[in-house]
Amino acid sequence: ADNPQSPQLDPTIPARLQEMKRKMASHIVGYPRMGPKRELKFALESFWDGKSSAEDLEKVASDLRSSIWKQMADAGIKYIPSNTFAYYDQVLDTTAMLGAVPPIYGWNGGEIGFDIYFSMARGNASAPAMEMTKWFDTNYHYIVPELGPDVKFSYASHKAVKEYKEAKALGIDTVPVLVGPVSYLLLSKPAKGVEATFSLLSLLGNILPIYKEVVSELKEAGASWIQFDEPTLVTDLDSHKLQAFSEAYSELESTLSGLNVLIETYFADVPAEAYQILTNLKGVSGFGFDLVRGSKTLDLIKGGFPTGKYLFAGVVDGRNIWANDLASSLETLGALEAVVGKDKLVVSTSCSLLHTAVDLINEPKLDTEIKSWLAFASQKVIEVNALAKALAGHKDEEFFSINAAALASRKSSPRVTNEAVQKAAAGLKGSDHRRATNVSARLDAQQKKLNLPILPTTTIGSFPQTIELRRVRREYKAKKISEEDYTTAIKEEINKVVKLQEELDIDVLVHGEPERNDMVEYFGEQLSGFAFTANGWVQSYGSRCVKPPIIYGDVSRPKPMTVFWSTIAQSMTSRPMKGMLTGPVTILNWSFVRNDQPRFETCYQIALAIKDEVEDLEKAGITVIQIDEAALREGLPLRKSEHAFYLEWAVHSFRITNCGVQDTTQIHTHMCYSHFNDIIHSIIDMDADVITIENSRSDEKLLSVFREGVKYGAGIGPGVYDIHSPRIPSTEEIADRINKMLAVLETNILWVNPDCGLKTRKYGEVKPALSNVVAAAKLLRSQL
Ligand code: GLN
Ligand code: ZN
Repeated sequence: ADNPQSPQLDPTIPARLQEMKRKMASHIVGYPRMGPKRELKFALESFWDGKSSAEDLEKVASDLRSSIWKQMADAGIKYIPSNTFAYYDQVLDTTAMLGAVPPIYGWNGGEIGFDIYFSMARGNASAPAMEMTKWFDTNYHYIVPELGPDVKFSYASHKAVKEYKEAKALGIDTVPVLVGPVSYLLLSKPAKGVEATFSLLSLLGNILPIYKEVVSELKEAGASWIQFDEPTLVTDLDSHKLQAFSEAYSELESTLSGLNVLIETYFADVPAEAYQILTNLKGVSGFGFDLVRGSKTLDLIKGGFPTGKYLFAGVVDGRNIWANDLASSLETLGALEAVVGKDKLVVSTSCSLLHTAVDLINEPKLDTEIKSWLAFASQKVIEVNALAKALAGHKDEEFFSINAAALASRKSSPRVTNEAVQKAAAGLKGSDHRRATNVSARLDAQQKKLNLPILPTTTIGSFPQTIELRRVRREYKAKKISEEDYTTAIKEEINKVVKLQEELDIDVLVHGEPERNDMVEYFGEQLSGFAFTANGWVQSYGSRCVKPPIIYGDVSRPKPMTVFWSTIAQSMTSRPMKGMLTGPVTILNWSFVRNDQPRFETCYQIALAIKDEVEDLEKAGITVIQIDEAALREGLPLRKSEHAFYLEWAVHSFRITNCGVQDTTQIHTHMCYSHFNDIIHSIIDMDADVITIENSRSDEKLLSVFREGVKYGAGIGPGVYDIHSPRIPSTEEIADRINKMLAVLETNILWVNPDCGLKTRKYGEVKPALSNVVAAAKLLRSQL
């Protein structure tokens, strides 16, 4: 079973030539599913809308799978993954495989089809969707399994075996990939009602029989390798949890015998204790490590690696879009080869390529120099193979020298380096930036100027974006309408939004962000050091994709970005008009970030650019400025030991943006989540005057922080209107929410606002909802 894809050696052909034909030791952890032009997205959405059939969807999916497999086979990849395709999510696929369907979806047994599968993912008329959460520290989201003591597991989706056979029929022998049993349980949540008492790992013995059935079938179908993804091994796990890995694989050992088994980890280094457990697992023949984010694992491997086992060395970054430094990777691989032996080293990606863009070939408009610095999934496959070939003594000198030249051009390119910015940012590290006066004195000074009622009302920034508005922006970008016509149209839109807010009697207004397509892209397009792709999409969840900008160089702000629109908006009203900016940490976390300097340095550079903007807004007479940090929490590293460092520079970056404003300038910030109990002290340390936060789906969670006695002195606006739903909350319901908050927060610091921006809602919903928001604030004012 050792070398499934090696052709038989023919004694009549010189050995060297035969060596060339042999598939080199190369492996891909997983591959994007959406397709180079998001084919799967459109097929899914058309199926969901009832515009195409299940067969149509299956056809698009199988075409995508076969083209991906063929592409990897043509590139010479030896260990090609299967079952990394998913119609929605690989964790949901595992839930289906195990038949762990929550009762509410009315499944009656049998093979799980689209109906039940998509009901779990998206909800149906009688049941809401299952919860979705972030996949580790990526922007991918998975469907969280919901497991209680009564779940009856059964083998209910044969997808892994079907995919294996499908590839085999194309002449491609693949490595089927399964979410490992322990990670599956650790990524689950206890079903409702058993939250406090239930140990998810107690289900291990119940799911392993299903895994055994799957493995047996794969073996029967001819598989010679199988990959279990156990990425939870890189997180902070106590010994009890680590023990579960030993138990699980010991239990599987006899079923796995005769197969080569790879345990794949990714996203960080494997902690020393976990490394011990992992490398001693029974029945396992190889281990995969992320050597890009997990550089400490290198030392562990050098300190000891089990003899006779395979090392899958993830040297090609699956989380970024940069071309690999092939020479340096080859050096690392050489050192590893000395440890594990020549025939036991496999070149791999650091994680699934799911988290990077698909193919550079679809970027004809991208600047050619910048393009030469990049590698998307399709190019990374080639890199992996080039490294494997080089390792086997067949180095493609031309490929390596083109790569070295690209790297050198990136290092020396004047478009990357801006000395002044480098210098300014370097000076920030280790120093502190704070406003001169404390928050309560500032709030007093601001109140004298703004003269707001108690429980002031505001919104988060964007107003509904109509089809017409999107058309205007698109046509302006395509130069189909003149600058003048565009400006007129946007002005009209702002005026409409301002008038509406005045009619609703909102206290602090916004201009509605009609000129913005996306809160990061809008700024990236105006800052230097950013590039944009046409098709650099990355799956976020289900059919949803994001297209992160690429930060390739030192960031600076050639000219003001928002002052023009903000001053126009302010001139339309006598009420305060909020300036509206995206904060440095959010811009960083929602972009592909350069890998030639630490993240914090890039963040400081963005902070300095935003600082210039804040100060220009202030000079232009804008007295309230909101700096959104929607994604600050998302950037939190996987391991607790690294939290403090991240939070320190992230919060510092935010403070840099506004440390220079006057006391009377009111700085707001906004966050898109309510889970911040664990980072509340960092949030306080941001020292904003007012923070608005998403809250209405989780009142209790947020309030519990304050109930536990955390002192909060700045302004705070927990959302009272869930903008993710078309539902219109009633005045009473909103008043009730505000009352609950008043029980734990001082009256004079509470603001009243929706959860987030209104961009995706319709005016028909927003008008009555905001009207109720204002009515509720007024009702409570009259009672206080
Ligand atoms: N100001 C932005 C808006 O209202 C904030 C969006 C966000 O937090 N995601 O659209
Ligand atoms: Zn938000």
